[in-house]
Amino acid sequence: MGLYVSDNGSKQFEKLSLDDIPLAGKKILVRVDFNVPIDDAGKVRDFTRIKASLPTIHNILEYESSAILLSHLGRPGGKVDKRYTLKPVAVELGRLLGLKVKFAPDCIGPEVERMVSELAPGEVLLLENVRFHSGEATDDSDFAAELAKSGDLFVNDAFGAAHRRQASICAITKYFPNSSAAGRLMMREIRFLDRALSDPRRPYIGIVGGAKISNKLKTIRRLLPSVDKMLIGGGMAYTMIKAMGGNIGDSLCEDELLPTAKEIMTGPEAHKIVLPKDSIVATDLEYGTERQTHPSDNIPEGWRGLDLGREARVEFVNIINGAGTVFWNGPVGLFECEPFATGTRAIARNLVNLTANGGIAVVGGGDSMAALRRFNLHGPMTHVSTGGGSLLEYIEGKPLPGIEALSDRSVRM
Ligand code: AMP
Repeated sequence: MGLYVSDNGSKQFEKLSLDDIPLAGKKILVRVDFNVPIDDAGKVRDFTRIKASLPTIHNILEYESSAILLSHLGRPGGKVDKRYTLKPVAVELGRLLGLKVKFAPDCIGPEVERMVSELAPGEVLLLENVRFHSGEATDDSDFAAELAKSGDLFVNDAFGAAHRRQASICAITKYFPNSSAAGRLMMREIRFLDRALSDPRRPYIGIVGGAKISNKLKTIRRLLPSVDKMLIGGGMAYTMIKAMGGNIGDSLCEDELLPTAKEIMTGPEAHKIVLPKDSIVATDLEYGTERQTHPSDNIPEGWRGLDLGREARVEFVNIINGAGTVFWNGPVGLFECEPFATGTRAIARNLVNLTANGGIAVVGGGDSMAALRRFNLHGPMTHVSTGGGSLLEYIEGKPLPGIEALSDRSVRM
């Protein structure tokens, strides 16, 4: 099987992977995705992405090579902004690896060159945020050339950033024409998504939620032809319900998208769409505020739908339990607020059951991941993608620039 199927599945690109390159005794420059939440006290709040990079780093160290890690963090806007320093990540990575991870104060320049030249086999060096330089966002070749000085080979393991045409992802590969390879995480994500979603075990169910339908329209359109059913929940469901003439009270709605929502709801795949029949509604989010359940298309003025109602929850859960494969992106309620977390928790729990019973549950997108963490149900899923935007673009069938830019496997070293 090819590593990457692009567009509509007709074109197959086989890309170089970590298994194809001679790893021994090299300085290996790895683009990782350490874009992790860091609090005001400088503490890393979520380790998922750091942990996800470990298989590639371990692999490099096993071969007596050294790893030089490149990443972005946040949006510092092309200039140094210490709120976005990767330094705390170096400490946490060291803790997870059980060794001291060196940290460079920049990602290019003489100091970095010195630190790289002094790096011994088996050592790890994390470079400072690539987005402290404006050349990163513009995919600048000169900046990429500077970055490329830090390694003999280039490995991209940042699936979460693969949809970005930026210097440490795309332009950098020009300087490693035959030695730009996909790392373990990148391979795992693509293999998984290809295998699970291009030929899914049926029934194949999509669940899409979240606040805004504008962010997910393309995903819905792309998924509809391939799924057997599409469950739509969260704030975005109310735009669909209003488009069909429902009264949604003060629920979230993107009025400018009502025509598009109606087009989908009356289109050839509309029979696959399941909207929440009822909703838990409230007038505000204060703790202890009164909650009521109403049909989702008959919500009184002043009230807003914030979670699946009981009937909707049971219907969603029954569909999940009969599924072969589920792809889930986005919470079906305001899950951060406990009184409105029941629907999202029910989905997460039943996806764990599905996985335990041999079904396939693929979960992706920042907020679904945040929900799993909140419910402590992160581990037992078939696959939790580290991708947010990149996952959605992948699902939409867009070629991801970060993967396209890697060396073809035919040039295997
Ligand atoms: P998104 O980033 O578009 O995936 O949206 C995720 C956010 O949508 C989460 O913070 C949820 O709390 C929020 N959300 C989900 N359902 C609702 C709802 N019915 N009303 C308001 N916000 C919601």
